[in-house]
Amino acid sequence: MLNLKMYINGEWKDSHNKEKRNVVNPANGEVFAQSVEGTVEDAKEAIEAAKAAFNSCVWSELPAEERASYLFKVADKIDENAEELTRFETMDNGKTLREAGFDVADAAACFRYYAGLITKPDGQTYHVSDPVQAMVVREPVGVCGLIVPWNYPLLMSVWKIAPALAAGNTIVFKPSEVTPLTPTKLFEIFEEVELPKGVANMVLGAGPTVGNEIAESHDVDLVSFTGGTQTGKHIMRAATGNVKKISLELGGKSPNIIFADADFETAVDYALFGIYAGAGQVCSSGSRILVEESIYDQFVNRFAERAKQINVGPGNESNSEMGPLVSQEHMEKVLNYIKIGKEEGARLVCGGERITKDGLNKGYFVEPTAFADVKPDMRIVQEEIFGPVVVIQKFKDEKEAIHLSNDTDYGLAGAVFTVDGAKALRVIKKLRAGITWINTYHPTYNEAPWGGYKQSGIGRGLGTYGLDEFQEIKQININLQVEPIGWFSK
Ligand code: NDP
Repeated sequence: MLNLKMYINGEWKDSHNKEKRNVVNPANGEVFAQSVEGTVEDAKEAIEAAKAAFNSCVWSELPAEERASYLFKVADKIDENAEELTRFETMDNGKTLREAGFDVADAAACFRYYAGLITKPDGQTYHVSDPVQAMVVREPVGVCGLIVPWNYPLLMSVWKIAPALAAGNTIVFKPSEVTPLTPTKLFEIFEEVELPKGVANMVLGAGPTVGNEIAESHDVDLVSFTGGTQTGKHIMRAATGNVKKISLELGGKSPNIIFADADFETAVDYALFGIYAGAGQVCSSGSRILVEESIYDQFVNRFAERAKQINVGPGNESNSEMGPLVSQEHMEKVLNYIKIGKEEGARLVCGGERITKDGLNKGYFVEPTAFADVKPDMRIVQEEIFGPVVVIQKFKDEKEAIHLSNDTDYGLAGAVFTVDGAKALRVIKKLRAGITWINTYHPTYNEAPWGGYKQSGIGRGLGTYGLDEFQEIKQININLQVEPIGWFSK
């Protein structure tokens, strides 16, 4: 049995109250680890350590090249431990080894990207009236609170930790209580590369206690959160006390628009990938497929036929194409949405049940599910289900496709499938969403900004924008003619 502890000021710690929480493998319901259940006192201690480390300038005043060299070492260690990290991610989250393998490789690449970026030129100078020279420099924000969900336990952590550390901040990080395993391994790597004490701190425990303390504390200068929209709203309110900088990456209900002229089999294939990759537990999942009227029936039939062939099973089995949901609680939430869809009168075209055959009864497996003939105001069309459940809507023309696509509170992602390049761009430009694709779904790059419009969030992760989130901008005005201004009489 693994024992997971918090990492505060360079030491592995139990919580103040010595309580523990079971960590469960969602493929079989077995407890494989225990993690300490952090308290508000633990969060305060971690914040104190991060504050002291920031004030000591042990990290923020290191030359960028030296900070970068730590991050490069972390990336190398992630690669060295890739096999174990991949296996652990599958055990904790349930995703397939193939999916977890991509996440681990991306995590190393993300550290390398920010290690490289921080050593590149970043200032500006302005030609203002004489005798002043104006310039801009970037500085770290201070103590950054980073809170992440369970769907990409390692990668979501790295998307925040890498730019925050690159920029010279110190951090207090909280993974989801459901998936603390690979984040803990990442902090073991921080210890191995001898990151200075107090620079990176990890607290384990529940959102409403530990997470809330990070969001409320006056000693935390910024909170960067990825998770559900309701929690994001709470974080916004909690952050008002000291007017923290905030960045929020929240939920989605993203449209995947398929025109009649699209390459049919390509569109079906990506539509399956868009919703069932990660068992639909992906913020940018294409959870609303919108299909042009003339191919609607043909599309629904072919999609359902393909969805039924997906091999669902434990993530660590090589022939599994889709793993279980992350927890029993989450599986019940998803099954309840399927029930709601049936009650709302949507037509179930595939799936709809928990899978209990072939020894899967102890895990949290749900069939790839699709509803057709849905109405725009149905809950299954408007609300984020975050599981392998998709709704397939019908549209008449371009105008209606755009209207339906934008007709939710969310605005995270969206895609268009058509061979007409001008139409694709016209539609994409009208989508109120931050991440878009044409004739593909899901590719994500460390170089490109990630984030949403509307209630899908505030700010952007990744790319140069992701570094901006963790930096303050300071203007410096230098008087080049040092003599009295003579404004007031002597
Ligand atoms: P939650 O919002 O429930 O939790 C996210 C994190 O916030 C967890 O660490 C959680 O802690 C913590 N938390 C919960 N309550 C509070 C609180 N009151 N104060 C501070 N922290 C709190 O989301 P899920 O973990 O269920 O993740 C799924 C959601 O994340 C989906 O809506 C998904 O769309 C979104 N997401 C968005 C992404 C994006 O890039 N836009 C990417 C990935 C996911 P704990 O659970 O440990 O108690």
